[in-house]
Amino acid sequence: MSIKENYNNIKKQLPSTVQLVAVSKTHPVSAIEEVYQLGQRVFGENKVQELTEKYPFLPKDIQWHLIGHLQTNKVKYIAEFIDTIQSVDSEKLLREINKEAAKHNRVITVFLQVKIAEEETKFGLEISEAEDLFKKFVDGEFSNINITGLMGMATFTEDENVVRKEFKILKDLFDDLSKTKSLQTLSMGMSDDFPVAIECGANSVRVGSAIFGRRDYSQS
Ligand SMILES: *Cc1c(COP(=O)(O)O)cnc(C)c1O
Repeated sequence: MSIKENYNNIKKQLPSTVQLVAVSKTHPVSAIEEVYQLGQRVFGENKVQELTEKYPFLPKDIQWHLIGHLQTNKVKYIAEFIDTIQSVDSEKLLREINKEAAKHNRVITVFLQVKIAEEETKFGLEISEAEDLFKKFVDGEFSNINITGLMGMATFTEDENVVRKEFKILKDLFDDLSKTKSLQTLSMGMSDDFPVAIECGANSVRVGSAIFGRRDYSQS
């Protein structure tokens, strides 16, 4: 199937209330332009270097989301233009984003990435850490960031029950935190599990290979 067919096929499956983040990592500028021409404006990349290499060649009304682990020393390269950083997994990183955003007179939108998968994953906050960070934000500690959502990844498994259970953990946290200050975006679901994620309450999904085709993992 072509990128256009893939894209239209995914769009058909998404309720109008669910945002699509087209994950373009490992795919060339030309492929991103193709999806842009179909009307897509929100794209996700997981590496700073790859994003900053592609960014100059693409339309400026693209809203870029960073969805991969971000090292604090790289925040400065994206602070001027990044729309949303979905992968905040430490207080140190949050502080650095706040600092760099201030330098550019911006308020950067961020999501807290929470560890929900049963499998050992390297990145993501524990639930208690996410609660603590959110409290500090609500108490006004960070003037140049706006925490508006949560992001999570389920275990890579065929067992839908496991995936459902993990998504539900994040949805519960989302509802819970929203009682103090309402959150807007629950980002969960990728090419293989986005329909389940939406059933579990996701209103933003991050879809890569189902649009752009399989990635060549030797390069990613
Ligand atoms: C790569 C990636 C995706 C998209 O994965 P696909 O399976 O290609 O849809 C979503 N979220 C994150 C954090 C990713 O790194």
